[in-house]
Amino acid sequence: MSTRHSLTARTLRLAAIRIGIVSICAGLVSYFVNQSTLEEAVRAQLLLSTEQTIQREALPFREIRELEQNFLSDFKSIDNDPAHRATLVRDFDQFFIRHADGSYTQRPGLFEGQALADGRRFPNMSATYAPDIIPTDDTKARFALSFLLSYKYGSATKGRWFNFYGPIPEKGFPIFQAADISKVFTYSGPDMLKLETYEFFAKGFDPATNGTFLTRMYFDYSNNAWMTTVATPDIPDASGKHRILACVDILLDDLMQRLAHPTIQGSHSTLFLADGEGTLMFHPDHMAAIRDSEGHASIMSLKLQADYPLLIAGMRLPPGGVTLVDTPDSIVAVGRIPETQAVLCIHYPRYLMQPAILKNLAVVIALGLCTLLVEIFIIRSILQYQVALPLEQLIRATRRLGAASTRPVDESNLPIHSQDEIGELARAFASMADQVQHARTQLESKVQERTLELEKANQKLEALSATDDLTSIANRRRFDEVLDEEWRRAKRSGNYLTLAMIDIDWFKQYNDHYGHQAGDECLRRVAHLLQAATHRAGDFIARYGGEEFALIATGTAEDGGLAFAQAICAAVTQLRLPHEKSPFGLITISVGVASAIPEENESPDSLLKQADMALYRAKELGRNRVVIASAEQHRAESDR
Ligand code: GH3
Ligand code: MG
Ligand code: MG
Repeated sequence: MSTRHSLTARTLRLAAIRIGIVSICAGLVSYFVNQSTLEEAVRAQLLLSTEQTIQREALPFREIRELEQNFLSDFKSIDNDPAHRATLVRDFDQFFIRHADGSYTQRPGLFEGQALADGRRFPNMSATYAPDIIPTDDTKARFALSFLLSYKYGSATKGRWFNFYGPIPEKGFPIFQAADISKVFTYSGPDMLKLETYEFFAKGFDPATNGTFLTRMYFDYSNNAWMTTVATPDIPDASGKHRILACVDILLDDLMQRLAHPTIQGSHSTLFLADGEGTLMFHPDHMAAIRDSEGHASIMSLKLQADYPLLIAGMRLPPGGVTLVDTPDSIVAVGRIPETQAVLCIHYPRYLMQPAILKNLAVVIALGLCTLLVEIFIIRSILQYQVALPLEQLIRATRRLGAASTRPVDESNLPIHSQDEIGELARAFASMADQVQHARTQLESKVQERTLELEKANQKLEALSATDDLTSIANRRRFDEVLDEEWRRAKRSGNYLTLAMIDIDWFKQYNDHYGHQAGDECLRRVAHLLQAATHRAGDFIARYGGEEFALIATGTAEDGGLAFAQAICAAVTQLRLPHEKSPFGLITISVGVASAIPEENESPDSLLKQADMALYRAKELGRNRVVIASAEQHRAESDR
């Protein structure tokens, strides 16, 4: 029984295939279940985290808006007070000096912290007033008031915000910040300050503008940083004109740092304005384009088609709203940052979910493999020890039984004590083997018996085939065998062999007269007599055929043979069997005798012929006599 095709191997192979299929199915189910639950979790987390992020990012803008609104209400209440306004016109002359081109800047030393005559100090405050419009008292009062309040709010929030400034529409620009703008800008030459070209200025004093707004992001080369300006104009007067504008510039470095590394590992962010164009503030792949376009690059201008759905979603959102957008390779949370027009998108690439899903899959497959190992171990031990080995024992026993061994089957080698089906099979086999063994033994003794009987029958048959039915003496067939044997023996030993042919006289007449049955009886009587006469070892008598007999005498020469034949002839007469049709009145025989030492190349036929001729001669001479072949014939005749 080769192991390769064994029951165990086949079952184990099937078990492996089965568990393999189960593992693959379980793996697939786990894969899809995991994927959907994981995706749900990711979506929920993305929504929550984006909501938190936009609320957090809104905080500084809200604070600045409130700061600017406080500035504006301070400004309004003082501006509406005529007594204050007169003081402010005087302050204007104290704070600023006029230059030859008609422009104003703050008095020298003021920025550095020198005290005025009345002791007031305005460190870090600088200002510039364009020469285009000659200032009136109203202009002077507003410019001085803005200077004072910009210092108040700027110094109060120093370290928190980059600067604070309150420009007036007549192109007056007082500012609290670390750099002195009066030294940076002039109204002629390459550094010419053109306030009206700045977005905060143009948009801030646009009669249509109402409430706080953010400028598009710009790169400030003097600070080497991305910035946006949060500006709040006052409520325009009846003619639609604004009198003052509160501004704070925000450095976007921190915001960008946070956007580049969102709280959810592996995700990335984009930030754009919900202005119809999707003006970009932050996009990790397009920062160069944003910079080169000085903040004008947008989703539309850069044709970022993948981001179109995000722009559409962002435009629809109310401030503080968050929604999820599915793109082919990412889940994107789109959130509108309150206080701003900015739309924050957190992109979560779907491939990030793969490791977790694959890890779960690996766990399922590992479990499947463990199950497989355990099952293989169990099946193997069951099959090997409880099925395959006992079966092998049975197979061996069956082969021994089949090999016709006379040895009885050794039951100790069979699993006959097992309580299962195999045990039952083994017990059935053992009893069958017993029966087979028993039947075989019986068969063998019967065969022996029959063989003996057959041998006996054969012997009988052989005897029968050598015996004459009527007379029970040797028949012609046996005579031929004995003659041949004795002829060869005599040839070897160089002894005489004598042959006598005996024939009953006038036997036809006997039959005709007394009947055939009487003839048979006569033949039997003569045969018995002849048989009784040939008692010497080496003598042999047979019925030669009809009423003729033949005699073989070994070791006897012509003389002995003749004497013997004459004795027989006389003995037949002595029987005195009546034969009315014979001239002798009795049953008589005629005998022809021949004797020879067999020579090389000579057959017994010549001896037979001589004896036959002698017999013929005996008949001729009158019957009831012995004639010896050749020269001795006369002696035989004279002996009568
Ligand atoms: P002869 O003296 O010349 O021998 O004369 P014969 O009549 O004996 O010789 P023949 O050969 O003419 O006759 C032989 C007879 O022997 C013929 C046959 O009826 C008889 N005979 C041969 N075999 C048997 C036998 O088995 N039983 C009987 N009853 N008669 C036999
Ligand atoms: Mg005859
Ligand atoms: Mg005869």
